[in-house]
Parts: sequence; C-alpha cells; structure tokens
Amino acid sequence: MPVSDDSMRFVPSIDEMVRSETGMSLIDSVGREAALRMMRVAVDEFRSDPDGVATKEEAIEHIEAALKAQSKDLSRRKLKKVINATGVIIHTNLGRSPLSVDAVTAIQAASGYCNVEMDLETGERGRRGSAAKRLLAELTGAEDALIVNNCAAAALLVLSTVAKGGEVIVSRGELVEIGGDFRVPDVLVESGCRLKEVGTTNRTKLSDYERSITEDTKAILRVHPSNYRITGFTESPSLADLAKLAHRHDFPLIEDAGSGALIDLSRFGLSDEPVIGESINAGADLVVFSGDKLFGSIQAGLIVGKSELIQRCRKSALYRALRPSKLNYAAIEATLGSFARDAAFDEVPMLKMLTLNYDEIDRRARKFIERAVKAGVDQITFETIRGSSAIGGGAGTGVDLETSLIAISHSSFSPDAIAARFREAATPVIARISEDRVLIDLRTVHEPEEDLLVEALAHI
Ligand SMILES: *Cc1c(COP(=O)(O)O)cnc(C)c1O
Repeated sequence: MPVSDDSMRFVPSIDEMVRSETGMSLIDSVGREAALRMMRVAVDEFRSDPDGVATKEEAIEHIEAALKAQSKDLSRRKLKKVINATGVIIHTNLGRSPLSVDAVTAIQAASGYCNVEMDLETGERGRRGSAAKRLLAELTGAEDALIVNNCAAAALLVLSTVAKGGEVIVSRGELVEIGGDFRVPDVLVESGCRLKEVGTTNRTKLSDYERSITEDTKAILRVHPSNYRITGFTESPSLADLAKLAHRHDFPLIEDAGSGALIDLSRFGLSDEPVIGESINAGADLVVFSGDKLFGSIQAGLIVGKSELIQRCRKSALYRALRPSKLNYAAIEATLGSFARDAAFDEVPMLKMLTLNYDEIDRRARKFIERAVKAGVDQITFETIRGSSAIGGGAGTGVDLETSLIAISHSSFSPDAIAARFREAATPVIARISEDRVLIDLRTVHEPEEDLLVEALAHI
C-alpha cells in the first residue's frame, strides 16, 4: 500500500478530477456514480505507478488520458451499427440477418402501445401474435404455429411438452453441437427427456430406429446438422419414413430444422436445407426453426405443426417464460408478409444478398474503387479478385457463392492494422483478411452504406 507522504502530493484528489474537463464530460456521459468509480480506479492506478510524473498538472493530464481510454473502451462495447464487409450473410457475431424495411417499420409502429394482446373488434383480450402465427401456419401448410424467443427455446419447449420423462430417439449422426453452445444432448436433458442414441455417426437405418422403440419412447427427433457435414458413405432414412414409423407407434416425429427455409433455395446451392412446408408435408408433427437465419428476420424460434401438439406447447408453463416480445412479433409478421406477397427476394435483405451474382457484385466493386480513388485515398491500392461469399449461421455449409472481392493494401500499414482502423471508423467496418490482404465483399454491404465505407477508407 503506497503511503500518502509528501512525495505523493502531486496525486490529484477525486474532487480535482471531478472538476477536470474529462471528469465533467465523463459524469455527463455515464452518470456520477460510474464516473466516480472510474476516477477512483484511475487515481489509485496512477498512485501505484506515477510513471515519472512529478507535478499535479501532469498528473491530472495523465489520469485524464487513462479515463478517456476507459470511456472509449466503454463506447466500443455499446451496441452500434457496423458495416458487414465480410461477405458472410448470416454473420452470427454481427447479428445474423438484417431486417427488412417493412420489419423495421413494423417494429417502430409497435414500439409504443399496440394491440399485442387486444382484439380491436371486441375490445377484449386477444392472443399475442395471432396474425403472425396464422400466416406462418398458412405459408408452411401446417395446422397451427407458435413463436418463442429462439430456436433453442423452441426445441426445449417442444421436447419438454411432448417427451418429458420419456425417451427421445436421435441418430448418432445428428448429436451435434451447433455454434453458440447449442448441443442437442444437453437440450434433451434440460427438457427432462432421456436420449436414446441410434445408428452410427455416418449411417443410421430405419431399422435402427425401429429396434430401439420401447414403451418409454415419446418421440423421434430429427436434427438438421447445420454447420456440420458428413459426406461419403452415409445413410439416413427419409423424413417421411421416420414419420410413418413414429405414427405407427403413436408418437410424434419432431424436426429441428435449424435454419429452415420457408421457400426452396436449392438453386442457390442450399439443397440440404429443409424446406419447412416439405417437412410438414412429409408428416413431421412439429418442426422448429430459427427466425434470424434463412427466414431472414429477427431472433425467434418458429414452431409449426399439428394443432393438438401446438396447443399443448402453448399451455405449458415453459411457454410463458419463452414467449417473445411484441417487437419480435411485429418483425416476424412483416417478414411473413413479404413471403406471402411473393416479394421476399426483393424485400428480405438476407435473400436479396443471396441472389446477387458475380457480375452484379463485380460491377459495384469496380464503381466503388473508382469512387474511393476519386475521394483521394492515396496510399491505398485496390484490386478486384474472384472469391466466394458464405451464407453463415450454420446454413448452406460448403455452399460456394461466387463473388468479386475488393483487395486492399496500404503502402505502410499491415492488413491487421488496416482491419483495426476499419473497426475504429465512425461506423465500424468489419472486413476479411486473407493472404496478407484486407478483403471487402460488397455482397453484404447495403448500397447506401458505400458512402460510409468510403469514409472508413479515408479514416485509414
Ligand atoms: C441454429 C440452430 C439452432 C439454434 O437456433 P437459435 O435460434 O440460435 O436458438 C438449433 N438447432 C439447429 C439445428 C440450428 O441450426
């Protein structure tokens, strides 16, 4: 413990720091209590390591600099808009799917008072999100639908409702961990079910399922392996065959489709992604999927299936804990509207980005380089190269979306230094680094954002 003898007289008091310019602006921005806490820490740190400083003025300056660094760090952590120049469309670290204009408008409209639980015809209490659920059921051909906070919650609710206390049969090839700590065996345990593993990692036959059915079996679960692929010598029964087997034994077939496409996206290479309507058609009793992956909307878990089972889920105490906010319903309802009007490829940003082809992106990339050069970013050199974008979010693993990348190099900065400067821009830009160059993929950059991208380049 350093002593406050005469040699430490230059250490400023907290009061003095409060009166400093940085102290005052810190109080304005984070509030008095938090600012005082930060000042005490900064003053203590300075006292234990005065770093050769010997006058009070210098000491105050020194501590002000430390406080500024802390406050910058705080502001970096706050949620803010960033430009996704990585070309990864469903970028989990950057918030997965960007919302459509309609979804944002709907969120704004619902942000004040709204009829989330009121029937405007009768003035009586209504059901939350009833329009969204009806649309969802219609678009997937399911009898009924339910919406919760995310797909993990949907899986938990469905399994707990249908199979608590019993056994759920899952193929060993599907016992996967999906990015962000979603582990199928753990979810089963949390739902109060026992996992019955069948088959092998690469091959599971219908007869494997059949042989493991007992009196305790409550469901068969089919899980889309998402970001994990087994190729080569593989086998798994069709969903329709699994459904028939389950129904013969009087229990349901549940599918965790993960991304789950509402419409067939196989022409973009996404032929491995379950189309929700097809799963329902094939006889799945309950299908769960994410709201912010290939559905292209807000974080949510969408559940569709047989009305008797959906009703049981709705009545579960767990549902009350997992139900989403009015803002989620607003965004989902709006996104479903785009699908219903057959306008999803124009209106849902995630799908729009998916459809961009090499030529369109290359044209934009060349125009962008011209603009950037005109804006006078001298020490930077640009080049377009062929490469690929990724779908991300565990969807379309291995799908190659051809793109035109803008490769950036700087006369004196390393790629890491450029990327760091990009992240420090007024609107941070997140780019890729590959083979000693910084790469920008305009596929995931909204056209109006290109201005901000030019600004970020100037910032370098
Ligand atoms: C992504 C995914 C989940 C988790 O979805 P969240 O919406 O992030 O909770 C669950 N199951 C599968 C198969 C997935 O791909």
